[in-house]
Amino acid sequence: MIPTRSTQAWQAADAAHFLHPFTDFKALGAQGARIIERADNIWLWDSEGQQILDAMSGLWCVNVGYGQPALVEAATEQLRQLPFYNAFFQTATPPAIALAEALAAIAPPGFQHVFFAGSGSEGNDTVVRMVRRYWDLQGQPQRQHIISRWNGYHGSTMAGASLGGMRYMHAQGGLPIPGISHIPQPYWWEHGRAQGLSREDFGLVAARWLEDEILRLGPENVAAFIGEPVQGAGGVIVPPASYWPEIQRIAERYGILLVADEVICGFGRTGQWWGSQTQGFRPDLMTFAKGVTSGYIPLGGVLVGERVATALIEQGGEFEHGYTYSGHPVACAVGLANLKLIQELGLVEHVREDVGPYLAEQFATLKDHPLVGDAETCGLMGAMLLVKDRATGAGFAPEQGVGMVCRGHCFGNGLIMRAVGDRMIIAPPLVITRAQVDELMHRIRRALDLTLADLHRRGWV
Ligand SMILES: *Cc1c(COP(=O)(O)O)cnc(C)c1O
Repeated sequence: MIPTRSTQAWQAADAAHFLHPFTDFKALGAQGARIIERADNIWLWDSEGQQILDAMSGLWCVNVGYGQPALVEAATEQLRQLPFYNAFFQTATPPAIALAEALAAIAPPGFQHVFFAGSGSEGNDTVVRMVRRYWDLQGQPQRQHIISRWNGYHGSTMAGASLGGMRYMHAQGGLPIPGISHIPQPYWWEHGRAQGLSREDFGLVAARWLEDEILRLGPENVAAFIGEPVQGAGGVIVPPASYWPEIQRIAERYGILLVADEVICGFGRTGQWWGSQTQGFRPDLMTFAKGVTSGYIPLGGVLVGERVATALIEQGGEFEHGYTYSGHPVACAVGLANLKLIQELGLVEHVREDVGPYLAEQFATLKDHPLVGDAETCGLMGAMLLVKDRATGAGFAPEQGVGMVCRGHCFGNGLIMRAVGDRMIIAPPLVITRAQVDELMHRIRRALDLTLADLHRRGWV
């Protein structure tokens, strides 16, 4: 165990040595990080003893909730038995084989193979290598180009951040890498509402942006399209139901590979094992991470459908790609225990038939609040949009940072909800109960009321 220190001592050492991800180091150093010390179920406790409802499942990953002994035991046993061995030189370990088999069993039809990585970003790097290799093997080496979406999130490595559509990330480090371009996201509020389109009509319009981009590039040059079934980090953007089936039709028409980044949507988050099942499409490849181990230990990878797997296996020769931790035995043992627990607890059905619909119903009532312009969910992901004027839908100026004001009131009142611009988003652990959803809603309403009062004081509403 790490000896305890005071909050201030932790903060001082943190500021002195630890460069946090996606953080303004100087600003955090001045303010001091919040130190999280322990957790159970959907609750966190910080170093000041405050109990916090974690409505973000850590970072979209702790699907089975904190403190599950089965996962701890799986890791401990595997650490004792065999803490590490690689899978490079014609060797394998039982946990990696068994997890690959278990993933194939829960994957949609046609997925029988898995390539393991250490994270979602690495999984997407693998996707880039794999789809380009696939087209080489098909005798179409000019098919190198990958299309993705603005405001999509696919990780933070060179390829992951390039596939992602976060302009502020591209601005640092010379991204995107060559051979990647972006189309607008299927966000009705931003691109369809003002045009007077119904959500369903807008879904078709947004999907056809893919067709336009394929034709602009020349279909013979396009390798793949990648997207999150429901965009997570971009602000829980739930696409219209018409969107993905039309994307599928377009991908098939031009023969390009379809990649679902299931890093958030996978493992029950949307009420099916895979977000692509909820959204009604059949990808060729699926990236996974986060929920595969419920975040207890790092693991990611790619589920490889028959079309690509057959080419790689039958014609490919050596695939010159892999990671030291591809198939890490401890991570895979935890992944196996996690899948077993999801099944034993019936969490996919729990989301689909019980808490998912209940959250949808409760979340929709937020639209009565004077600050909320729109509120929507998909399974256990949800977003509400804070607006200045509900009648016109007019928003606040981005530089006012109203989402961050609201987030401050959440943090101050025992609730972790994330702000993406003025979209306030949640993705609670899948083990959440109806009574806990009630508690969550109570805390969300309180944070909204405090935010409204705060904005009145500032004269912003
Ligand atoms: C988090 C995330 C990633 C990146 O995963 P890391 O484990 O942080 O590398 C990729 N895609 C999606 C959709 C994600 O949400």
